[in-house]
Amino acid sequence: MTTRFIFVTGGVVSSLGKGLAAAALGSLLQIQGYKVRLRKLDPYLNVDPGTMSPTQHGEVYVTDDGAETDLDLGHYERFTGVSTRQTDNITTGRIYSNVIAKERHGDYLGATVQVIPHITDEIKEFILADITDEDFCICEIGGTVGDIESLPFLEAIRQVGNELGKERSLFIHLTLLPYIKTAGELKTKPTQHSVKELLSVGIQPDILLCRVDRPLPEGERQKIALFCNTKHERVIAALDVDTIYAVPINYHDQGFDVQVLKYFNLPVNKQPDLSRWRNIVATQREPEGEVTIAVVGKYTSLLDSYKSLNEALSHGGIANNVRVRLKWMDSEIFESEDAINQLEDVNGILVPGGFGERGTEGKICAAKFARERGIPFFGICFGMQLAVIEAARHLGGIPEASSSEFGPSKHAVIGLMTEWMKGNQVEVRRKDGDLGGTMRLGAYACDIAKGSLVHKIYGTDKIKERHRHRYEVNITYRKQFEKAGLVFSGMSPDGNLPEIVERKDHPWFVGVQFHPELKSRPFEPHPLFKSFIEAAIKQSRLV
Ligand code: GLN
Repeated sequence: MTTRFIFVTGGVVSSLGKGLAAAALGSLLQIQGYKVRLRKLDPYLNVDPGTMSPTQHGEVYVTDDGAETDLDLGHYERFTGVSTRQTDNITTGRIYSNVIAKERHGDYLGATVQVIPHITDEIKEFILADITDEDFCICEIGGTVGDIESLPFLEAIRQVGNELGKERSLFIHLTLLPYIKTAGELKTKPTQHSVKELLSVGIQPDILLCRVDRPLPEGERQKIALFCNTKHERVIAALDVDTIYAVPINYHDQGFDVQVLKYFNLPVNKQPDLSRWRNIVATQREPEGEVTIAVVGKYTSLLDSYKSLNEALSHGGIANNVRVRLKWMDSEIFESEDAINQLEDVNGILVPGGFGERGTEGKICAAKFARERGIPFFGICFGMQLAVIEAARHLGGIPEASSSEFGPSKHAVIGLMTEWMKGNQVEVRRKDGDLGGTMRLGAYACDIAKGSLVHKIYGTDKIKERHRHRYEVNITYRKQFEKAGLVFSGMSPDGNLPEIVERKDHPWFVGVQFHPELKSRPFEPHPLFKSFIEAAIKQSRLV
C-alpha cells in the first residue's frame, strides 16, 4: 500500500472552512490524476452527531452504509464524487466506547488502559483502516489546535507521520491572517502562535494555508515562512471567494496542488483541466434567470443545518441556468392566519426534514397552500409526512390525522414501524430503545411506478436513496389516502413502505421519505432538484 496521508489541522479560530479546504484539495488531486479518500476525525464526545441539534452542530450527513456523520463529509462527496462510508468519520466518543468495550472484554490482558497508547492506537487504527488503492487519504482534524480535546488526535497523527515518514505523510495547517484596518496590514502573529502550539505537540506543519480577505503581500509570505520554518512557496493564500465552487480554482492559482505533489516528489500537471469547476462558477455568477423558493423549516436560524439542501437547490439552479433565491422561513409564522400570504410570490415551496411537533402546523399550512394554489411543492422526509397528514385531514376524511411522533393518536397516518427489511435482513426497532443510531438509516431501494411523474424524472424503475427517520407513512390508510388524491409512486421493494408520494391534480407535487439532497453533486445535480427548479421556472412565467 502506497497511500499517502495528508493531515489538515486548523488554527487561530474555528469556521475557517477546513472541510472545504480538504474537499477542494481532494478534487484538485483527482484532476491531477490521483485517487483520493477523505475522512474526518472529530474530537467531541458524542459517539456520532446523530443526537446533536442541527442548530448547534449543523446538518447530520448520512452515508450510503448508514452512518450519521459530520456535514463536512457532504463537502467531500460534492467536491470529489467519492461516496463516503462508516469508516470515514470518527469521534472521541466512538474511540472511547471502542476502547472501553475492549477493556471490559479483557482484550488488554491486564494492562493499565491509558490515553497513550490505547486511545491513540485506536485513532491510528481508524486512520489507516479500510484503505485500498487510494493514492491519497486526506484526514481532517476537527476543532482548533490548542483545544484540550484534540490532543489525543494530534498525538496520533504525529505518530502516524513519524511511522510513515515524510514520503508518505504531509501536515497542512489552515490559519487566519486578519486585516487590521488601523495598521493597514494583514497580521501574521496569530499564525505564528498557532504553529508554535502545533510544534509543542511535535508537529511541524509542511504547508500553511492562510485565509485572507485580500492578496497576501510577498513580504508577509516571507515573514510567515521564516517564523514558521517552512518554504515561502509553501505558504498558500486562501482568498475569500463568492462561491465555494471557486475554491479549487483559487487554490490551483495559488499553487496549492502543485506544492502538495512536489512535496511528495510526484509528477505534476502544471495546467490541469479545471473546466468542470470553471463552467459551474460561470453559471453561478451569470445565470440567465432567477426563481424564488421558500424553505419552510424549523432550524432556519443556522443555515448549516440544511447544508446539503442548500447545495442541492443551487445544483438544481445550475442545471437550469438560473439563480435560486432561497427564502428561509420559520414554519411557526404560518400558524397565524394571514401570514400564509407571504408565500404568494414564491415559485416553489419546500418543506425539509425535521423532528418534533413544534412548528408542524405551520408546515402543514404551507403544504396546503402549495396544493391549493398549484405552486410546485417538494416535501422531504418530515415534509413528505406532513403533506400526507395535510391531505388526510383536509381531503381524506380524517380530521384528526397525525403522527405518533407527536404522542398517541387515534389516527396515526404516520406511525412507528418496528420491523422493516434491509435487503434480505429484518431490522428491528424497540419503542423504548435508544435514540442514537436507531433510525432507518442509509441507502434503501425503492421501486418506482411506471407512468408517474417521478418515473419520468428519474428515468428508471429502481432507485436507491438515503434515509434518516424513525416514522413511516402508515399504508393501512391506503383507501383514505387515495380518496385524498395521493399517489404512492415509490414503494419499498416489499411493498410495505411508501417512499414517494405525488398528486395527479397538481403541476409538481412530490414528497419523498428519503433525503435526495445528500446525493446531489454540482456535476450531477439530483434529478428531483433539477426537475423541481424547472417546475419553479415554469411557475415564475405564470405570475
Ligand atoms: N421526524 C420524522 C421521523 O423521524 C422525520 C425525520 C426527518 O425528516 N429526517 O420519521
